[in-house]
Amino acid sequence: MSAELLNGSQLAKRVRSQIRRKIKNLTFTPGLAVVQVGDDPASTLYIKHKQRDCEKVHFHSEVHRLSADINQDTLIEHVENLNDRTDIHGILVQMPLPEGIDKEAVIDKINPHKDADGLTPVNLGNLLINREGVTPCTPTGIIRLIELTGAQIEGKHAVCIGRSPLVGKSVGMMLLNRNATVTYCHSRTVDLAAEVQKADILVAAVGRPEFVTADMVKPGAIVIDVGINHINGRAVGDVKFEEVKEVAGFITPVPGGVGPMTRAMLLENTLKLAIGG
Ligand code: NAP
Repeated sequence: MSAELLNGSQLAKRVRSQIRRKIKNLTFTPGLAVVQVGDDPASTLYIKHKQRDCEKVHFHSEVHRLSADINQDTLIEHVENLNDRTDIHGILVQMPLPEGIDKEAVIDKINPHKDADGLTPVNLGNLLINREGVTPCTPTGIIRLIELTGAQIEGKHAVCIGRSPLVGKSVGMMLLNRNATVTYCHSRTVDLAAEVQKADILVAAVGRPEFVTADMVKPGAIVIDVGINHINGRAVGDVKFEEVKEVAGFITPVPGGVGPMTRAMLLENTLKLAIGG
């Protein structure tokens, strides 16, 4: 293996101990509320991990499990009640939501000052104008992993495969804010391989198992694999790890790369919101 492994689990552990140190001086307990609609098994597992993380840093956390057949207005009412709670500093509505619910309409109702995943229009707008406050958890975790390499982002050519606000579009904005030259690839990109080959920093957020192969990767590139695809009960990334690790300079594993950092950034965002920073 030529690439150096970017260990997200280890970095997340360091973030959690910094948070534990920071909250020692607080006179209150930061509180996170997660809203789950329905019982999607993957969401249930992610939420369990988030709760465990909250315990590790002594945050208060609560999960609001709502029936899959809830109507949009009742869900919004629930979110608005959480907005009014003084003991809840961060709110996260777990995606995906059941069909028939407009997720943007629900996110719109989260108070931007309680927006633990940085996905409200206000927080995404701030990201767009390079006034980063609370930024989406996965992209923020990705930036930390890139910083771990010690490489400068400025002037690098970054390619994001995927353009969702949750991951691709936001991480591209964060890289642009750090003066990278950014290319977005998506399902309509013509000659995606040629675009990807130019990447000094490659972020794969496609949701297709082993989509990125070694021949698409520039030797020495920083490769961040965001994908979580479940195949025969095993988590597989969007990057063909076994062959790409022979070409890349740095690579994140799946699991143990972006996932733990996403959760660590949720804790950081909750603390930031709790102390009004
Ligand atoms: P998404 O909303 O489905 O977006 C996928 C993106 O990939 C879209 O922009 C889509 O293009 C693009 N795409 C799909 N097929 C393509 C193809 N054949 N060629 C080029 N582009 C293609 O997914 P997401 O929410 O961004 O998540 C992406 C992956 O990251 C998923 O596997 C998800 O599970 C994972 N994820 C992981 C974490 C974590 O913490 N590790 C967090 C969030 C998400 P169009 O826009 O043209 O449709």
